[in-house]
Amino acid sequence: MPLLLDGNRVRDDIKSELKPRVAALTGKGRPPGLAVVLVGNNPASAIYVRNKIKTCHDLGIYSESITPPDAINTEELLAVVERLNAREEIDGILVQLPLPPQVDAKRILLSIDPEKDVDGFHPFNVGALVAGLPAPRACTPAGIIELLKRHGIAIAGKRAVVVGRSDIVGKPAAMLLLHEHATVTICHSKTPDLPAVCREADILVAAIGRAAMLTADYIKPGAAVVDVGTNHIADRELAARIFRNSPERLAAFDKKGSALVGDVDPFDVIERAGAYSPVPGGVGPLTIAMLMVNTVAAAERHVAARPVC
Ligand code: NDP
Repeated sequence: MPLLLDGNRVRDDIKSELKPRVAALTGKGRPPGLAVVLVGNNPASAIYVRNKIKTCHDLGIYSESITPPDAINTEELLAVVERLNAREEIDGILVQLPLPPQVDAKRILLSIDPEKDVDGFHPFNVGALVAGLPAPRACTPAGIIELLKRHGIAIAGKRAVVVGRSDIVGKPAAMLLLHEHATVTICHSKTPDLPAVCREADILVAAIGRAAMLTADYIKPGAAVVDVGTNHIADRELAARIFRNSPERLAAFDKKGSALVGDVDPFDVIERAGAYSPVPGGVGPLTIAMLMVNTVAAAERHVAARPVC
């Protein structure tokens, strides 16, 4: 059996490590503070935000959710961010994406103070990532690195292939792997002979958004496979194919009418990989954990920069 890259365990370890840091900050004056801006009524976004707020609560981090109406315009949302930028007790600001179409999302993300950009999406922080300078790192890619390192997967000197080139997952994940001294290839929808490229990978990261697309043919025997994909499937035929060896998961699908699956075929990966992250329970839990790490680190920098009276 391959090694299971257990995101729930790593998340719990990270949370345990954060608690004394939160306590130390609280003892020095106030807890770290995170503001989450959730525009409108997107149900998936509302669940993500609820989970973020709950994790803050578990850790003793002050959190606040701001919920402007769906009809808000760019100028009004810029004013919301400006007010949060100015507040001393707010260390981190997260604007939950997607934003409604009338809002210029790029302008909003640019308006967040880079010091408070706990998502690591501001171009200033993207530049710091490329330059290898300390700054908040994008949470899901940072979680991938934690997952590998904390399971003893060597990265230096390995061939890493990242499938997906988005600004929030693929590109920053590739850059972090490069900083860890992997030899990195980034693939996308125009990459010829994707299976052959993927089969060169000692570390294969799938960040595509296509249910169970990477089958045995894409996996080098013994590779470490990190599956970032979160795909909700509702098609019974697809579910029957993906869960062909798991009557329990198919029964759960039939009961619910849907299921969450990754970008990697869950049974082929068990047959061929040396280590793999499951969906759910792999990378997913780490995204919020790394958001908490970024928030606490921002608060620590904030306190360190405060003038001594
Ligand atoms: P995007 O849609 O922004 O990017 C998908 C990437 O996959 C693109 O670069 C695209 O290529 C590439 N791609 C699509 N189809 C193919 C194909 N057939 N062959 C090769 N490459 C392909 O997605 P995200 O990066 O935002 O997310 C990727 C997945 O990760 C999604 O399932 C998302 O839900 C999940 N996710 C999970 C998170 C978590 O916490 N676990 C957090 C964030 C995302 P091209 O650029 O050429 O179009």
